[in-house]
Amino acid sequence: MDNAGPQLLTQSDELRKRALRRTPGGVHSNVRLSGSQDFIKCARGAWLYSVDGQDYVDYLLGQGPNFLGHAPKHIVDAVFTACRDGVIFGGQHELEVRAAELVCDAVGWADMIRFSMTGTEAVQAALRLARAATGRTKIIRFEGHYHGWLDNVLMSQRDGKWGTASSGQLARHLEDSILLPWNDAARLADALDEHGDEVAAVIMEPIMINAGVIEPLPGYLEAARRLASEYGAVLIFDEVISGFRLGLGGGAGRYGVTPDLATYGKAIAGGFPVAALVGRADLMDRFGTGEVNHSGTFNSSVMATAAVTATLTSLVEDPPYDRIAEHGNALMAGLREIGAAHEVPLRVSGLPQAFHVSFGDAKVTDYRSLQQLDLARYETLASSLVEHGIWVTGRGVWYVSASHGQRELETALTRFDKALTEWVA
Ligand code: PLP
Repeated sequence: MDNAGPQLLTQSDELRKRALRRTPGGVHSNVRLSGSQDFIKCARGAWLYSVDGQDYVDYLLGQGPNFLGHAPKHIVDAVFTACRDGVIFGGQHELEVRAAELVCDAVGWADMIRFSMTGTEAVQAALRLARAATGRTKIIRFEGHYHGWLDNVLMSQRDGKWGTASSGQLARHLEDSILLPWNDAARLADALDEHGDEVAAVIMEPIMINAGVIEPLPGYLEAARRLASEYGAVLIFDEVISGFRLGLGGGAGRYGVTPDLATYGKAIAGGFPVAALVGRADLMDRFGTGEVNHSGTFNSSVMATAAVTATLTSLVEDPPYDRIAEHGNALMAGLREIGAAHEVPLRVSGLPQAFHVSFGDAKVTDYRSLQQLDLARYETLASSLVEHGIWVTGRGVWYVSASHGQRELETALTRFDKALTEWVA
């Protein structure tokens, strides 16, 4: 007879059982199928609290949006206050004008903006606009860059070949994409030489945060800018992660290269669901004339524009960038030190606002060279980190927020050390 006592289910177990009955996989985004299955009760600042009483120092930030920390009071208050007078009007309102002005002023080079709910939609609007403006069909894009989950942009690599990433996704929706390795100006020049008169747009993350947090090589973005102009293609920077995170000007500002269009999301609205497409007036105005359709019931809602207005005001009036850089740099250095003390080839690279943790040693400049690292090994460490109270995923990207301070740094490094000790043993 088995004399072990009854297994007590945690509250997370109970909730997961209920979730699985009504929700495929128990989650509402496939990205969350992997990762911790703990249920979160609440979040404050840089901390998450589970329904079972575990606390976590959060370096995932809801996949990036909580750049100012969780539930920043001034932003939540601004949204609640604004929404008391109505949430969605089906008409224009002053807050959306203010939010548009603030974003364009912060970005610097952008004349006009259209808000959407998600980065995925902003990318679709950008691609449609580029095709309309050029009368061409093809899009040049890059290995490892993520541009949303829809059929014409979702790609993954299987058995060394890039293609559709989902059952039900038709391969023909990817036929107008030309996929290149990133950070290789000669390959881009060759592709444009071959297909130049068919290419509507060149789209990239100006820093490839989605895969490895890899910075552009010196001169690469400048070359992409020059080549896109030379061949009459629209240069789109997908700044859904980098926007407002690397500074008010995002990747374009950091690297001093101006695209024709850029997409924003995540850090733009203090955790609220907002994204945007910004760009040059001569392109963007095609939406205004009605020539190019861009729609959305919830675009520029009171919630969205109040959140953007409060976030941008806060980023301009009380810039958190130095604080974040200080924490991120100290954290990266601390992780490296702990890795060295345990004699494991821990690799920490990227920027203090967003960095990548993995194992191995290689010169990484693109998705292919990233594969030389032992990414699978980090995935197993990530599970152990979550068990020890550091909220990260197996993808290796860590985000730092304005709410991370000395207490979070010390706690994270102590927990990391403990997790690594047990994991190595
Ligand atoms: N573009 C980039 C660079 C992203 O990282 C993401 C999401 O992570 C998207 C687009 C899609 O944004 P969303 O998930 O808001 O649809």
